Amino acid sequence: MPSNLRGRLTVQFVLLFVLLYFSGGAVAIFVFANQLDASLDESLQDLANQILPAVDFGSGAPSLKRWANRAEARHDKLLSTVQVFDRGGTILEEFGPDGHRHLVRGTAIVDDSAHDANPVSVRSRYIEVVEGGNKTGYLQVQVSTVQRDDALKQIVLIMVTLSPFLALAVALCGSWFSGNATRPVEETLDLLRQFVVDAAHEINTPITVIDASVQTLEETFAEQNLKDDILPIITRASGRMRALGESLIVLSRMESPEYQFSVSKLKLADMVAPVVAECEQVAKHKRQSLVIDQIPDVYLMGHSESLERMLLNLLANAVRYTDDGGTVSLHFEVEGDRLRIIVEDTGIGIPRESLAHVFERFYRVDKSRSRDMGGFGLGLSIVKSIVDRHNATISVESQVGKGSKFIVELQLTG
Ligand code: ADP
Repeated sequence: MPSNLRGRLTVQFVLLFVLLYFSGGAVAIFVFANQLDASLDESLQDLANQILPAVDFGSGAPSLKRWANRAEARHDKLLSTVQVFDRGGTILEEFGPDGHRHLVRGTAIVDDSAHDANPVSVRSRYIEVVEGGNKTGYLQVQVSTVQRDDALKQIVLIMVTLSPFLALAVALCGSWFSGNATRPVEETLDLLRQFVVDAAHEINTPITVIDASVQTLEETFAEQNLKDDILPIITRASGRMRALGESLIVLSRMESPEYQFSVSKLKLADMVAPVVAECEQVAKHKRQSLVIDQIPDVYLMGHSESLERMLLNLLANAVRYTDDGGTVSLHFEVEGDRLRIIVEDTGIGIPRESLAHVFERFYRVDKSRSRDMGGFGLGLSIVKSIVDRHNATISVESQVGKGSKFIVELQLTG
């Protein structure tokens, strides 16, 4: 599915057309086939009525032998099967092409060809033969349905052959229409994304000023040997605002289809090493064991900065949501051209009902705890948008009190 609104609408437009085209076509073919059958039945009924007066009863049973002999003498070629049955429905005579040798109204398969690869089907109609007020048998006429079947096949063939061209035409029209319809929405979305980026940049400017001022004040306090409690609080608050601004910028960039990041061939080890180094200090501080698998010698195509951020967010969360003395591990699994990066921890875990929401913006399982730990609920949204931009997948398994496992699956390159 395309990522932009216009592309998605066009694809839905085409899918809807294909569905309507084939279901409408199927209904039309069904109605047409029924009409063909009805007109065949009508002509068979007329034919039977025309032949009926020629039935003679000289031998006691109804017979069309004399009629057939006359037709043969005239060199008339019978295109329809004409059959005579006795009262009990047993066939007595058959003229013309081979037919289905039982009384039947509707479509039937010719007996001899029933087991053939291409069974011949006939349309059949019969009327009663009455002599002196008593029913003496039946007259049945049948005609091959080859022409009817060929006509239907022809229609199906035309429909199928035309479908890709029509789908293409619908795709072009759909793209044009949805382009027009979604332009204002896309423009508003672009404005909104730009607004987020601008707002985040604007937040960063005063923060830089606050940071610098705090530093100056700290130096002044230090020089004058004054005790100060408030400055670390200001520093922490400005740090949080900076982190929020940065997260918002990254997120809106990742979610903007217009944002093109440079993709290159990356060695997995080069991507993992700096991230692990960054997390080691915090893990050590919390006396956690950081277990890292041997990094496989593989390569992937991607944006190195984003992929590092993805791994950093997952590892940082694992360290953050695992109590002191716990274990955080990083595993790698290579299967064919797929790489699985597994970040596992023995931490607090995520309740089952929250699992579906952890990738949503600003979602935090335990708001106060997460905020105390410095989280905004944006880390996993960023991870998800990076994963999506790399056509990768992410899944999560977790048990409260036991730990969590985030699995990212990426495509490897040669
Ligand atoms: P935050 O910045 O709050 O950590 P995230 O988007 O990274 O935001 O994560 C969303 C929420 O998912 C977190 O608030 C936390 O409740 C939960 N979470 C994420 N990773 C883990 C983990 N490894 N263990 C337990 N909970 C986690």
